[in-house]
Amino acid sequence: MTFPARAVGIVAGPFPATLIDDIAAEIAEHGYAVERQGGGLAVALPVGRVEAEPEAAGFSVRIASSGPKQIHEMREAFLHFLDHAAPGLSERMTWRGDLPTGAYPPNFRKVRVVGTRPVSPNFLRMTMAAGNVGDFVTGGMHFRLAIPPKGRAPVWPLIDGGGRTRWPKGEDALHNPAYTFVAVDLEKGEFDFDLYVHDGGKATQWALEAVPGEEVGLLGPGGGTLPPGNFLLMAGDETALPAIRRILELSPPGRRGHVFVELGDIADRCELVVPDGMTLEWLTRGDGPDLWTRIAGVPFPAEGESRFVWIAAERDLARRARLHFRDTLGVTQDEAYISAYWTR
Ligand SMILES: Cc1cc2nc3c(=O)[nH]c(=O)nc-3n(C[C@H](O)[C@H](O)[C@H](O)COP(=O)(O)OP(=O)(O)OC[C@H]3O[C@@H](n4cnc5c(N)ncnc54)[C@H](O)[C@@H]3O)c2cc1C
Repeated sequence: MTFPARAVGIVAGPFPATLIDDIAAEIAEHGYAVERQGGGLAVALPVGRVEAEPEAAGFSVRIASSGPKQIHEMREAFLHFLDHAAPGLSERMTWRGDLPTGAYPPNFRKVRVVGTRPVSPNFLRMTMAAGNVGDFVTGGMHFRLAIPPKGRAPVWPLIDGGGRTRWPKGEDALHNPAYTFVAVDLEKGEFDFDLYVHDGGKATQWALEAVPGEEVGLLGPGGGTLPPGNFLLMAGDETALPAIRRILELSPPGRRGHVFVELGDIADRCELVVPDGMTLEWLTRGDGPDLWTRIAGVPFPAEGESRFVWIAAERDLARRARLHFRDTLGVTQDEAYISAYWTR
């Protein structure tokens, strides 16, 4: 595959003798295949290629990808590895090539509150204006908000001269909780998401007080592909409900399996389109069987069958589920999405 966009980063001057070996080790540690060629290294990915090699008076990094946004993302990933291999060295890097020209990182934009309305006792539906929302339909199910601290003028992330995203820190630090798109309106340039109102939540507080026109940051879209499998076991709590609803809506009609959703308040139930071969059970937290009991008790198809387990909830349940499905039942990475959506 050829990649039309290219960028080169150069560090002039001395660098540690083991640098390329150390970077290669860092990259390999994260599960990527690293090719060694001469004194350099190369990593070939579906989204692009990175090469690093010593030069006469320093060392260079070459990145090829489909466009400036992808180059920026690969550059950030490389700088992460470089920072671990040789802290501080990346500060001396200069970059040229097909790099993003905007001051904000390419996956960041400012969005505005259009309105907020309750859809059930503990969920608020937020409508946001975001300009061109085409990539919200194709680019993943989730996004992160970037909420500025209350009472302070927002400070947004910026790309610095070294190609790194500088995030506001200290009193200006942004709060970045993840959410799930509920609806995207291409014509109006708007999108909706459902926010579970819970005690102590900074995003909850922001949402309760949000006024039309108010600005907030958005990172994404990203993450959350549709699970494959003829048999699907899905389970989650309030935070997973928007994703479960979306996945069920897009599930093939012949799919088999079970869906368990645990709510603190059963009045938060919503309409779910469940394929004929799947069962749906709503559970009430603290009243009757809990989510883990139902997950662990349900028969799961044997190895070799087309099966998938999708679980998103509090971290302890996610940990338990990983042990149960991966370690006890031998479910592979390709057959599972088990994610902590929040921590106690
Ligand atoms: C991929 C992904 C998609 C998600 N989609 C959604 C979504 O569509 N809608 C949604 O509402 N949430 C969703 N979440 C969960 C959401 O990001 C977290 O609940 C997040 O912590 C909320 O931020 P906050 O500012 O309200 O709370 P924080 O400031 O992060 O936490 C403050 C306090 O609230 C507690 N807390 C956080 N979440 C909960 C909870 N659910 N119940 C009880 N206490 C809690 C924390 O333990 C902490 O004590 C998603 C998470 C992920 C990873």
